[in-house]
Amino acid sequence: MRPFRLALLVVCVAGAFGAQAIPLAAQGAPPGSDYEGQAFEFEQIRDDVYIARGTGALTVMSNAAIVINDEDVLVVDSHVSPAGAYALLRELREITTKPVRYVVNSHYHFDHSHGNQIYGPGVEIIGHEYTREAMATGLSLSGRTFARFLAPIPERVASMRAELDATSDPAAREELAQRLEVQENFLAATNSVEPTPPNVTLERQLTLIRGGNEIRIEFLGRGHTAGDVVVYLPEQRVLMTGDLFYSGLSYMGNAYIPDWIETLEKLKEFDFDVVLPGHGPPVRDPAVIDNFQAYLRDFWEQVNELHDADVPVEEAAARMDLRSHGENYPQIRSIGVDVDAVDRAYELIETGR
Ligand SMILES: [Zn+2]
Repeated sequence: MRPFRLALLVVCVAGAFGAQAIPLAAQGAPPGSDYEGQAFEFEQIRDDVYIARGTGALTVMSNAAIVINDEDVLVVDSHVSPAGAYALLRELREITTKPVRYVVNSHYHFDHSHGNQIYGPGVEIIGHEYTREAMATGLSLSGRTFARFLAPIPERVASMRAELDATSDPAAREELAQRLEVQENFLAATNSVEPTPPNVTLERQLTLIRGGNEIRIEFLGRGHTAGDVVVYLPEQRVLMTGDLFYSGLSYMGNAYIPDWIETLEKLKEFDFDVVLPGHGPPVRDPAVIDNFQAYLRDFWEQVNELHDADVPVEEAAARMDLRSHGENYPQIRSIGVDVDAVDRAYELIETGR
């Protein structure tokens, strides 16, 4: 049981929103929408629950989790661009003709929220109060995370174009041209982003009752960011976790590491059979949460020692040794960790924020 929930504010918004979603056709395809085949692979988890994962035909980056209600649809996360979100809506029609009326942003990161703008004013975009603030103040388009993932795209496209010009082998050219097209689409798509913050916010919990579905959106504490929310379907025993938890090592560039370990403890208290994460495949083994907590604990201990010893960020990142977690995380093959994670950890140690 979860006694801490007794203190939470429960907002029931069933029937509170009367507006209808704007028909998709009214909007037209956003820039960077050209792709061949399917952008998403849909996996059915329950009668009314799906996970959509990118195929690579279009750069969408994050997963979407989908709940089909009696009258409407709720989507968790809006991908990296309007083009990504649009592709999801287009392909979702193969599963349902019901309108998307709710979008949840698991957190403010660009790869989960930059498709928000394609949803019309009749769609409730739900996120934590912090997510709204972060997006409204430009955090999804600045700072360490932006510099790492989005800022390099124009240069990448330019160097791929130069490489294509210098390649004469027809097969190699074709392969390169295909990859270039994906990146050019990605560039066009990200250039069209106007960060659109949630228009419905919560601080602790918000419950939607949609027909027979109860959908709980909860903030369990800081972790991957200061405003991660999870979406829980108690009847279906499905938990959607964004980047707070997935089977790989979640990005730590905006993390609150000690809080994250505690927040993951609360995650374990849910009764669930399957986690639909923000990246990667569904997770059915709760022990994977323990693995990630163990990694974070070890990371935090080591990074504090190095910080105490005045070791500079770059050197600390090169020296940290998390190889003992290699069995759980095969990507750990050598000494050293992500420099963004160490940079962020030092910031957290020094500022407490
Ligand atoms: Zn994230």
